[in-house]
Amino acid sequence: MQLKNQSLIQPDSAFINGKWYRPESDQYFDVINPATSQPVAKVPDLDEKQCTEAVDAAVKAAVQLKNMTGKQRAEILRRWFNLLHESRDDLATIITAENGKPLAEARGEVVYASDFVDWFAGEATRIDGTVHQASASANRIITIKQPVGVVGIITPWNFPAAMITRKVGAAIAAGCPCVVKPAAETPLTALALAHLAYQAGLPAGALSIVTTLVHTASVGKVLTQHPSIRKFSFTGSTAVGKLLAAQCTTTMKKVNLELGGNAPFIVFDDADVSKAVDGIVASKFRLSGQTCVCVNRLYVQSGVHDRIVEALIARVNQFRLGPGDDPKTTLGPLISKKAAEKVAAHTEDAVKRGGHVLTGGEVASDLGEAFFQPTIVTNVAPDALCARSETFGPFLPILRFGTEDEVVQMANSTEVGLAGYFFTENISRAWRVAEALEVGMVGVNTGLISDVASPFGGVKESGQGREGSRIGIDEYLEVKSMTFAVN
Ligand code: ADP
Repeated sequence: MQLKNQSLIQPDSAFINGKWYRPESDQYFDVINPATSQPVAKVPDLDEKQCTEAVDAAVKAAVQLKNMTGKQRAEILRRWFNLLHESRDDLATIITAENGKPLAEARGEVVYASDFVDWFAGEATRIDGTVHQASASANRIITIKQPVGVVGIITPWNFPAAMITRKVGAAIAAGCPCVVKPAAETPLTALALAHLAYQAGLPAGALSIVTTLVHTASVGKVLTQHPSIRKFSFTGSTAVGKLLAAQCTTTMKKVNLELGGNAPFIVFDDADVSKAVDGIVASKFRLSGQTCVCVNRLYVQSGVHDRIVEALIARVNQFRLGPGDDPKTTLGPLISKKAAEKVAAHTEDAVKRGGHVLTGGEVASDLGEAFFQPTIVTNVAPDALCARSETFGPFLPILRFGTEDEVVQMANSTEVGLAGYFFTENISRAWRVAEALEVGMVGVNTGLISDVASPFGGVKESGQGREGSRIGIDEYLEVKSMTFAVN
């Protein structure tokens, strides 16, 4: 991989206790470029012992971070932000190489990821307490906020930079060191981020990157069960989130979970059709449909159904499927062959239940095994696999509906609730539906809701807690109340 700053990648190394870490053992695994299925680098396959070393280093760093002022931590974060900004082209190249997303989207992710660091640099200086009127006349009550302690973090491959900075930015701002296990698909971005964080002045041990593949479960046990880790933060699938949250109960860690979604997108007859089509395309095909807030089910009211479908086909046929490093590419590969097979299975199931494939529908095997054609299927049955579970691909299932009550009921008929979207020009309906959707985030007349300023998180089985925004730092702080007797 050609980078302007080659020091962002060190051969065969993880990052522990403030240094590139090259173990003596010969256990490594390949990082694969999804566009070519070829290895781009190899990284150490670390085990629970090495993860525990990272936790021990973090325990030492915790004292240092806690004793810094918020302003001092903010200064480190701001220098990290500047370095991320200066390295944006290289970071985008690394993201595209290991994740597959088109370069333009990778650049967008670097901006989004560094914005969290900038945002939390601001929050670091605003960690305040409160004053309370006591019931007993002799008492005075105040509260202060203190860092929760060492944080264990596990992240997914779909946003290799942003899923780390959204957690680590908040944690460092609060004064908490982090031990991060990135997804085995995308460890290189995580390592480059850590390298830059130390150049920015982070104390040794305040951020370690534990790369692992074979030892994923045992490293996960260290991060969820080690008594010195006080907080665990995870982004990934609901199934793995449940398992890890259960592991955390043995030591009563604070837990933050950002899990799977099954986002409904509703277009009412009174919507602005052209804006709705823009919203659907933006929300569905970003990162080839592999974000947890991507539209998973599109509900279109009968009166605008045919116009919406026709406009969507025209838009989808404009996509240029190809490798992410080709500047002409507007839709990249999926993360793996397995991911493409899942989309094929959802297509097959929808067709079996009466669905009509209007465009796409197959693996684009001429490009590679991880490429799937952008696909639109109409007449999708409410009980189809794609309506009940996350497809995570460039596959848009369309369901027709009649009334508002009916569609709200269908939208809510799932055990998860991360994001939901709808388009209407009727302000009363906008309030009603926004309040009725059982999700943590609603897009009203927009398909793009991710913003550092907006609390990110879900309800039901989509998780617990909120990241980013003014409240994101609270996940890493404990409130301590102090009662003073004055006589
Ligand atoms: P996805 O299907 O998007 O890969 P996962 O939930 O499987 O979602 O993965 C999200 C993160 O969780 C990745 O870093 C992955 O390596 C990690 N992971 C998966 N299974 C476990 C486990 N048993 N213990 C710890 N981490 C795990």
